[in-house]
Parts: sequence; C-alpha cells; structure tokens
Amino acid sequence: MSTKKPHLSFFENVSFNFEKAAVFTGHPRGLLDVIKACNSVYAFQFPFRSQRGYEVISGWRVEHSHHKLPVKGGIRYSEQVDEDEVKALAALMTYKCAIVDVPYGGAKGAVKIDPKKYTPHEVEQITRRYTAELIKKNFIGPGVDVPAPDYGTGPREMAWIADTYTAFHPGQIDTLACVTGKPMSSGGIQGRMEATGRGVFFGLREACSGKEDMETLGLSKGLEGKRIAVQGLGNVGYHAAKFCQEGGCVLVGVAMPEGAIYNPKGLDVDGVVKHRQETGSILNFPGATNLANSAEILECECDILIPAALENQITEANAPRVRAKIIAEGANGPTTVAGEEILLKKKVMVIPDIYLNAGGVTVSYFEWLKNLSHVRFGRMGKRFEETAFEKMLRAVETATGKTFSEAERRVIAHGADELDLVNSGLEETMINAYCNIRELWKRDRKIPDLRTAGFISAINKIAVSYEEMGIFP
Ligand code: NAD
Repeated sequence: MSTKKPHLSFFENVSFNFEKAAVFTGHPRGLLDVIKACNSVYAFQFPFRSQRGYEVISGWRVEHSHHKLPVKGGIRYSEQVDEDEVKALAALMTYKCAIVDVPYGGAKGAVKIDPKKYTPHEVEQITRRYTAELIKKNFIGPGVDVPAPDYGTGPREMAWIADTYTAFHPGQIDTLACVTGKPMSSGGIQGRMEATGRGVFFGLREACSGKEDMETLGLSKGLEGKRIAVQGLGNVGYHAAKFCQEGGCVLVGVAMPEGAIYNPKGLDVDGVVKHRQETGSILNFPGATNLANSAEILECECDILIPAALENQITEANAPRVRAKIIAEGANGPTTVAGEEILLKKKVMVIPDIYLNAGGVTVSYFEWLKNLSHVRFGRMGKRFEETAFEKMLRAVETATGKTFSEAERRVIAHGADELDLVNSGLEETMINAYCNIRELWKRDRKIPDLRTAGFISAINKIAVSYEEMGIFP
C-alpha cells in the first residue's frame, strides 16, 4: 500500500493507518465508517483579559467514539494546535483504549495557547473558563467525558478542572471522577505522573525480550546496554528515559526545543534535567557533544529512538537517515505514514503510539475507579496480607529452624499498597497488550507491521461493542 497524497494531515494519517488495517478485518464498510468517524466536535472561542489586554482564545473538545462511555483523553495546551490535530488525537485515544482493554471511547481537548506566555494565575483563569465551556455543552463529567493531562498540561491544570466542575455540581458525590491526572491531594492516584513513561519502559522491555525479533534487527535480547535517544524530556520522555536507564539502557542522546546533546558513553537523565534547570538549556552538558540542532536527535546513532514530544517528527524527509533499529513512539503520531513506509523498508521496528503510550490512560482508568469507589487501593487488604504473610513466615521458621532477618521480613511480608497495585496493573496491561498485538502480527504474514496489528485488534474489539448494542449484528 503506498501513500497517494504526499502530505497527509495528522487526522488523515490516522485514517490511512485505520484503512491499512481495516482490509484485514472483513467488517462491512458501514461499520468501519461508523468506527472511524469523529462523533462530536465542539469548537469554541472565549474572551480573555490578560496583563496585555483582551484576546480571544480558541478551545476544542472532540469525542471520537461513543461506543463506550465515558470518553477519555487528554487536554493539550499548544499554540500550534488546530481542529485536525485534536480529531487525530481523539481517534488515537479510541484505538488505544481498545488495545489495552480500558473501557472508554476516545476523546481529546485543546486550548490554543503557549502556557509559558501567561502567568500561573492567567493559566488558571483560562483553565477554569475552558472547563466552564465544557460543562455548558455536557462535554465533561464522570460518566460522560473525562479529560486528563497531555502536552503542556499537568496535575495543576487537572486540579483546577476538578475544582471548577465540583463548584458547578454541588452535592454530587462523584465529581472528582470528572478528570484524571490530578494531584494526590485532589483525588489523584499514586503512579499516574510517571505512568506513560513507565508504560513505555514496560512495552519496550517486552518487545526486546523476544530473541527472534531482536535477531531480525541485529540486536541482542533484552534492554541491557541498548542505546536510547529521547526527543522531548517532558513528562513522557523524562520518565521513559529514567525507567529505561534504570532497566539497563544507556541514554546516549536527548533533545529539547533549544537543541540536542549526544554522548555515546551515556548521559545521566537527572543530571541533564538539573543542568537545564541551572543554565536554562540542555546544551553544553559536561562530557556531551552539542548536535547541530534539535531535530538531529532523530538521526543519531542509537538502538532505540523514543520520540516523546509531538507529532509529525519522522517524515519522508528524515526517515532515510534514521539510524535507530527500534522507534518507540512515546508521543502521539510522531511518525507520518510516508516516514513509516521508509522505516519499514529499512526493517526498522516501530512500536506504535496506540499501544506504547497507553500507560497514561491505563493508570487514569485506575484513578477514575478509585474516585468512583471513594477508597484508596490497598486500604482494605494491605494489613491483612501483611499479617497473613507474617504468620506464614513464623510457620516456616518453626518448621525449618531458620530465622528470617528484618530485611527479609520487610520484603516477603509486604502487603500491597496503592503504588504496588497501580504498577502491577500497568505492567500486566502493557505485557498482555503487547503479546496480543505481536501474536496478531506474526500470525498472518500479510500484516506488515505492529501498528497495523494494533489497529486490527482495536477495530475488532470496537466492532464487537457495536454488535453487542445490536447495531451491525
Ligand atoms: P510535556 O509538555 O510534558 O513534554 C513535552 C516536551 O517536549 C517538552 O519538554 C517540550 O519542551 C519538548 N519539545 C517540544 N517540541 C520539541 C522538539 N521539537 N524537540 C525536542 N523537544 C521538544 O508533554 P507530554 O505530556 O510528555 O506529552 C508528550 C507527547 O506524549 C505528546 O505527543 C502527548 O500527546 C503524548 N502523550 C502524553 C501522555 C501523558 O500522560 N502526558 C500520554 C500519552 C501520550
């Protein structure tokens, strides 16, 4: 299948990938069209008075698929954002949730601002007004549409959203479940902040554990010693780099908007972050070479490239020069259709966004469940488990005469707390989903790549939902 249009928009890229997979599913055209279409697109403008005077701010919320409710997806603050981008991101959310069996339809929101150009107080006012606009049209609510952080937003914005929603819905018991990615003090869950990056690590570790797949790429099995380069050291990129480094990878390259640095002997991710905090730039990091520009990171010598900034980064223009053997898509849509065609011809393995960055929505799902159940995970069982494990240890000691040390006791007789359960659920989800899409990919030689396998898996699951509803029996 070759790209007819040289420059597809982001949403057209997603639709192209959908169609590439749809031919393997055998579903009727009407059903495929229903799955592919964006159900609701809400675009709005609101006035805002900053220190500089009045301006008009554009916002969007796109609910791509109502096959399951609520719909779910992040909110992006970016000056570059437009409707096509929000539609593409919302569609990716639908397929992502289906792949990891998180029971949501997909959505996405955006505000067309560069938050760095506003004071924190102004960002708060914009966030609260954006939330009020969503409330007006019923585009937010625990059972309707549940936003989360994305590029340019974080726990702070999510806390403002939750607070605004709660103020408009006095007396409703589940209001905190209207948004995820909140700080702990506002109903958040442990492990959400790092969830997407941790999920990238779990996914990569799983992909690299397959001896046969690694041999095809000319790589050894496992993560140990694999050279990684990361574009964008934000939430996803930083945590992915951190967990991969802890898992045995060597971080050789990092890019931020101001430039890129490279050191084949390795860069300490926390050292780079500290250096940037102190100097305002990652450039001139001790021991590293400054690359000519930020985009050079995509072409650097490494085994695994993790684009974790924005979409449309690996294109037909630079794909021929990409040297990584594995592209691990932390960002949404970093590889264009035309770029991917070149990569696949070069036998590069692309681990697609619709699977690899699903850790965020997975842990958001756990946060939503926690908010609805009004109880912290582990609260009921932790002490009970610890007591049971302790009894077992004592029985073993009595039977064998062995005495366990305090350190051994702490490890063995540890009851699961919230973070243990979140990380365990995330790991299980990422491993299962990888095995599912890899098996699909390998089962039929005609399925060209993992992204297509991911889309097939998603389309089939969504089709079942429509069939269960009695639509398209
Ligand atoms: P973020 O704002 O925390 O970080 C993005 C980083 O990329 C920033 O530090 C920014 O300065 C940097 N950046 C921007 N343009 C760059 C460029 N050209 N070169 C190098 N660096 C650049 O955003 P995030 O939440 O980490 O999101 C990053 C990507 O991951 C987005 O595509 C987002 O949709 C996707 N994603 C995020 C989550 C999440 O939980 N936050 C979940 C799934 C997917």
